[in-house]
Amino acid sequence: MQAIQILTTGSADVLTLRDLPTPTPGPGEALIRIEASGVNFIDTYFREGRYPAKLPYTLGQEAAGTVVAVAPDVTAFKPGDHVAWCGVPGTYAQLAVAPANRLVAVPAGVTSQQAAAAILQGLTSHYLLHSAYPVQPGDEVLIHAGAGGTGLIFIQMAKALGARVFTTVSTEEKASLARAAGADEIIFYIKEDFATKVKELTSGRGLPVVYDSVGKTTFEGSLQCLRPRGMVVLFGGASGPVPPFDLIRLSTMGSLYVTRPTLKDYIATRADLETRAKDVFDAVANGTLKLRLEHIYPLTDAAHAHRDLESRKTTGKLLLIP
Ligand code: NDP
Repeated sequence: MQAIQILTTGSADVLTLRDLPTPTPGPGEALIRIEASGVNFIDTYFREGRYPAKLPYTLGQEAAGTVVAVAPDVTAFKPGDHVAWCGVPGTYAQLAVAPANRLVAVPAGVTSQQAAAAILQGLTSHYLLHSAYPVQPGDEVLIHAGAGGTGLIFIQMAKALGARVFTTVSTEEKASLARAAGADEIIFYIKEDFATKVKELTSGRGLPVVYDSVGKTTFEGSLQCLRPRGMVVLFGGASGPVPPFDLIRLSTMGSLYVTRPTLKDYIATRADLETRAKDVFDAVANGTLKLRLEHIYPLTDAAHAHRDLESRKTTGKLLLIP
């Protein structure tokens, strides 16, 4: 089977198409034929070596497809089932094995492309808004990079919870998409100081929460957007990692909170995974959560997808089709 591996870390040039043997499901595992694999920013962190991986490493940790075989001890899924999963490496491939307890059934009415587009970024938006900082109706929240894959889902979910949503984007085209997703206030963080703008738009009140996935270039401004006892939920570093930080500043800036959450801790139990996935897939199936699937590449073009994502050319979701 074909798969995209890295044999060394580096730029998108290190992505290598390889022919690998068909994997065999071990105890508790299923073998799945992948129909669509999601490209996520985290894949670039593994490719660069920012997150460690044992080489050679098959990139990708989000996909949807059809179960081909299961180990004898697996009863929850059977060949032919339509499933999706995330957080298990190895999805830039035609086939993958995954623990059956990490799979979720994809309901009728949701395609594999939609499932692969929604599961990682949908579950992420869900746990950030419901659990990392649980949004209340009327909360004013800032989400950076609002036209990205995560951003467009995040805005829709935050609006559904009754928030007033501020978002940052780099271009007019991205602003239109974020507005269409429901954002109330758009800030061009390349041209203007977003913290000053947020203070203006809130008459100096500041925000209870900023969801920051851009990191290096935004973290300081995100802290400045907060009201006393507000929280930065730092969930990524698309512009690079945040440098070391002196905790005393949280005190002097108003008894602030910072958390650095990751999805796996918020879907650690089967119940958490199922509840969140049901909310996400139900919303896709009934049309209340709209997905933007504009960037669809053959698996063999994975390097192209990485270059587009990192150069800020994309909006919404990127998918690889084996
Ligand atoms: P996106 O589609 O959102 O792409 C990243 C966006 O970040 C770009 O489109 C761009 O939007 C913005 N950006 C700002 N500065 C830069 C820069 N220097 N280089 C590149 N992009 C930049 O990606 P994803 O939806 O896949 O991921 C978004 C973030 O969420 C990532 O940081 C990712 O790691 C994080 N994440 C975290 C999870 C967790 O559980 N902790 C789970 C899932 C995602 P613009 O041009 O408008 O500025």
